[in-house]
Amino acid sequence: MIEQIHNRTAIFRDDLYPFLGGGNKGRKMDAIAVDIFNQKANALVTTGGIQSNHCRAVAVFSAQHGMDCTLVLHGSKEAFYSQSGNAKIMRLSGADIIFVDEAKHIGQAMDSAMDTYRKRSLNPYYIWGGGHTMEGGKAYIDAVDELNTYCKQNNWQPSHLFLASGTGSTQSGILAGLDKLDMDTRVVGISVGRKSKQAETIVRDFYRDLCTYYQIACKDKSSVVLDDYLCGGYGSYNQDIKDISDRSLKDYGFTLDTCYTAKAFYGMLDYIDNHNINPKDVLFWHTGGVFNFLAE
Ligand SMILES: *Cc1c(COP(=O)(O)O)cnc(C)c1O
Repeated sequence: MIEQIHNRTAIFRDDLYPFLGGGNKGRKMDAIAVDIFNQKANALVTTGGIQSNHCRAVAVFSAQHGMDCTLVLHGSKEAFYSQSGNAKIMRLSGADIIFVDEAKHIGQAMDSAMDTYRKRSLNPYYIWGGGHTMEGGKAYIDAVDELNTYCKQNNWQPSHLFLASGTGSTQSGILAGLDKLDMDTRVVGISVGRKSKQAETIVRDFYRDLCTYYQIACKDKSSVVLDDYLCGGYGSYNQDIKDISDRSLKDYGFTLDTCYTAKAFYGMLDYIDNHNINPKDVLFWHTGGVFNFLAE
């Protein structure tokens, strides 16, 4: 669903994506599910932080389908068992939770969870953190169809599209989807954690891979990921971002969390101001994060 705020900037409301608790991780998981069913898998293994939207979507999916699920989490175990939001949903899902102290132990813990399932004669399925897979990207190639329908109905096309960029698969999928439909919107990712150079390389490579895999004529759009709004890194924010987040429901009618969407929204406002871009020509792709907003 796309709507306009104050009759200006258009918002793609993936925070209202109706399945698995919504957001871009809900949308990605539904696309990954197609492959899970094709492979006849019956157990899932993935990883993320204690407020991971991705782990929440995977946990809800497994619970709904009666599949076994192991979540390898990094972060504070104590916080995980006391916090609301995604942590609460993961706890209620019945998934097996394994904590690792250091990020470098994640791979090993996931591999061993896969082995344990195989020993129990299950057919486990491995999902990269963040749902950063071909199918996850495909979710966004397809989502651009919805944008295109809106554009045709309203005789309008955004000159610029902004979104929060993490693993980059949402951004890469959107770029490939725009090429597929021959739309020349400029995509600007606001990095939530990585420096521009690394983030842009990952987005560009994954965008090209998606085009090749799904046979889309790649137009080599520029993959822009700004790191001007990192505020130090993943999870960090400044007072302006905090203010936008706190006022979001009142000002816009949707929530913006400090980790992803308030950061991206703040970056967008600053960028369009500095580059004299008409807000009416802009689309903000709201990637979700309602549950981490509630846990903050
Ligand atoms: C994961 C996430 C993102 C980043 O998406 P990527 O596809 O990893 O770049 C943005 N917003 C929210 C709310 C997320 O949970």
